[in-house]
Formats: sequence, C-alpha cells, structure tokens
Amino acid sequence: MYKYFVGFVLLINVCVMAQETSFINDLYFDYSNYKEISLAKKRIKHADIIQLMDKLKENKKFEISKVGKSAQKRDIHLIKYGNGKTKVFLWSQMHGDESTATMGLFDIFNFLTAMDRYDDLRKLLNDSLTIYFIPMVNPDGAEVYQRRNAYDIDINRDYVNKQTPEARMLRSVFDTIRADFGFNLHDQNGSYAAGESPRNAAISFLAPAVNYNKDITPNRKVAMQVIAAINKSLKQYIPGHIAKYNDDFEPRAFGDNFQKEGMSTILIESGGWLNDTEKQFVRKLNFLALISAFINIANSTYTKYDVKEYESIPFNKEIFSDVILRSVTLKRGKKQIVADVAVKRVEKNSKDYKIGYYESEVDDIGDLTGAYGLEEYDCTGLTLEPGKIFSKTVSKVDTLEDVDINKIFLEGCTTIQVKKIDDSLAFCKYPINVCSKNKKQIESKVGSPADFGLYKDGELIYIMVNGYLYDPNNETGYIANGRINR
Ligand SMILES: [Zn+2]
Repeated sequence: MYKYFVGFVLLINVCVMAQETSFINDLYFDYSNYKEISLAKKRIKHADIIQLMDKLKENKKFEISKVGKSAQKRDIHLIKYGNGKTKVFLWSQMHGDESTATMGLFDIFNFLTAMDRYDDLRKLLNDSLTIYFIPMVNPDGAEVYQRRNAYDIDINRDYVNKQTPEARMLRSVFDTIRADFGFNLHDQNGSYAAGESPRNAAISFLAPAVNYNKDITPNRKVAMQVIAAINKSLKQYIPGHIAKYNDDFEPRAFGDNFQKEGMSTILIESGGWLNDTEKQFVRKLNFLALISAFINIANSTYTKYDVKEYESIPFNKEIFSDVILRSVTLKRGKKQIVADVAVKRVEKNSKDYKIGYYESEVDDIGDLTGAYGLEEYDCTGLTLEPGKIFSKTVSKVDTLEDVDINKIFLEGCTTIQVKKIDDSLAFCKYPINVCSKNKKQIESKVGSPADFGLYKDGELIYIMVNGYLYDPNNETGYIANGRINR
C-alpha cells in the first residue's frame, strides 16, 4: 500500500511540475496581453507608477498602503495581493537606475487583474500565497536615473547604519511582514557573461550567503531550490544565458541580512540582451521568472529540486564590451600592427533625465581572446584610421537637418565643425559628432572616442561613429547619437 501511495504522490508531483512548465510555455506567447504599455522605456519615474497604482486601487484583489517616504518626501507604497498562508515579499528599484523588474511587476499586476484562461492559476496563487510588493524603493534615485538615493547613499549598503529613510522603511516592512520568501530585484550592466562563454548573462540569480563561510542554512537551501526551479522554466528560451551572481557575503546589504534573518531570499539581476537597450525582453524574463517562482512556491514543487541544480548554473563574469573589432590593422608610426579593438558605449543622462545618450570610447586594444563583444566584427584585411573632421563648417547643430551626412561619412569623416554649439546641448541628436572650430583629429588610443574609418586598399568600407559601426556605401547601420566636443 505504501508503495502505491508513494507512487501516487510522485505522479501528482510530476503532474504539478508539468503543469507549471505548460503555464510558462503559454505565458511566453501570451505575455503581450499583460505588458503594461505605459511603461515602455526604462527611465520610469515615481509619477508614472503612482498613476498605475491609482488604477490598481480600484481592484478589490489589491490593498495598497503607504509605508514610508523617501528623502525627498516621495511616498513609498506596499501592494498586497492574495489570502494564502505563505508570504512572499518582493521589492524593486532599490537602485534608482535599475527599473527592469519594476516594469515586470506592473506586467504581473495586469496579469493578476485579468480574467481569462489563466483563472485557475490566479486562484491557486490567490489562495496559497499572500504577495507583498514594493515596486520602487528609491523613487528619488529613479527621478534622476541614478543608483543612489537623494543623500548619495547606496541604500543596499545601508542595512546596518540605516541613515536613509528608504533603508529604515524596507527594514520595518520586513519586520512587519516576516515573509517566508523574498525577492530582491536589481539590474546588472550588460558586460557580464554566463560563465566562461560568449553568451551574455540575460538574467542572473543568487541565494545570498549568510556569512563569509557561505554556509547553506535551511532557508538559503530553499532559496537555491526556488532558483533551480526558475532556471528550469527559463532556460529553454535563453539557453546558456542564465548566470549566478557573485556569492561573496556582503554584511551591509539587504539580501544577505534578510537571508540571515530566516527569509528565503532570492536576488534577481536583470542583465543585458542584444539590441535591448530599454530592457524590454529582459523585463519579460522577469515576468516569467516571478510567475514561475510563485507557482513553484504555491505548489511546493521547488522542494523537488536539488541544490546541485542551483550550483550548476555558471557564475557571471565581466568580460563583455559593446563592440569588438577583431584582427584590425592599426598604424603605429611607420609600422602596422594587427590587434582586436574593444569599444564601450557609456550611457549618460540627458539634462531632464528623461532620455539617455551615449559617449563611446576605446576600451582595450590587443589580443582580446577570452573577451567578447555584444557586437563582433571580423576586420581581417581592414585598416583602421582615426575619424576625420569634415573640411566645411555649419553654423548651428540644427543645420545638420539639411546636410547629407552619408556623403560626409564617405570621406572618412566622423565629426563636423559647428560655429556655435548651444551650451545646453549635451549630445548631438544627428548621427555624427560635432565639435567647435579648430579642434584637431583625435588619435585612436585606449580611452579616446571610438571614431574611425575602416579601409581596404585605401577604400573606405565602414565608418565607426561614436562607437557605432556604419556602412556608408550601402547606407546601412544604426548610430544612436553623435558626441559634442566643445
Ligand atoms: Zn542594484
């Protein structure tokens, strides 16, 4: 009899696990029904989410309360969903410029408020779990798209000292809820690979350590099992692009301390994806990862996963540049050398913090085996020359509207002189760099702007403007913006 009973329980578990996989498969295709379209770009602000929360308040399934104020007196909200025994607590955007999961949370709210063929799933989540969300821990940072809070303190290093109102709020909400599971939602930059591989880390997970010894305490083990379950749901869509975040103990951070306090805590870091500067694909991965976690927690199916499955996820490694030009010929005095050239595009904030622009630079030159570019180009047989400054001058940046920029590129020029550059301009919205009069051409060295012409037998093949490769002969390619050199 016992044997049959065990067999029956196993069968149920297999069925429940298969059901979870099928939900995630379906949701991968149905996701667009729930995507919160008003949050279409990563620079989201407090006012954007206040509007959405006002709408959410009308839905009886949610309870929304104010749980604190930021340093600049912006309200911080807690959203509660469900009536189940198991408590799950999620907090996002503790770093103001890390908004990917926040967008994902609003997709989840849309999913939870919808009525469709997933109603049984909603009932399961509603009846088994009580889920608490803080969608924006650091609204002041979000306002100016910066990591730190208004006091210039990193909230995630303020767990012990509690000098910021945001850290005090988070600790006090944690104490009030005393959740079983916690999700600490962040972003990492796109320069991380999943292990020693040419695949970048689209998403990274961590069950934070509780001490320098990295002991696997019972609740840390549970966090590892939940991550193993999420990994299984996601890996078919992004094979080789899932990583584990550095597991060194950080005594000042929230995740590590909450884990120490007994809540099974999971860190999710939204990483990079090719041509996804606004992180919209990674946002979808967050949505799927969290729904998968909720199902596994509600059904307790995470208990079937082995810690070894968590351990088999490779650690992320910082080895990515935005672009690598492979085996390009460089002129050094009278000599020619062949080397790889890595280029990084540094994202900056516009003055109103509403949009970002890029300033690129040469990151490395040499044998870059073991490093990877999100974009890679084989430049064998191509000679790199610094981008030239166009011989004619225009009066104002706006005059570029009527200029045939491609023609300028065909002469190997990446920059044009402008008589008067407005002081308020941070970048050039046209795909060419501008400089004030009498500026000299810049040599192509590490740290210098990435503006080149690439030639074959003296004939221009490609041009790189502000870190973006463009083919002027066929007029193909994309250049986000030009740089201003005053
Ligand atoms: Zn962060």
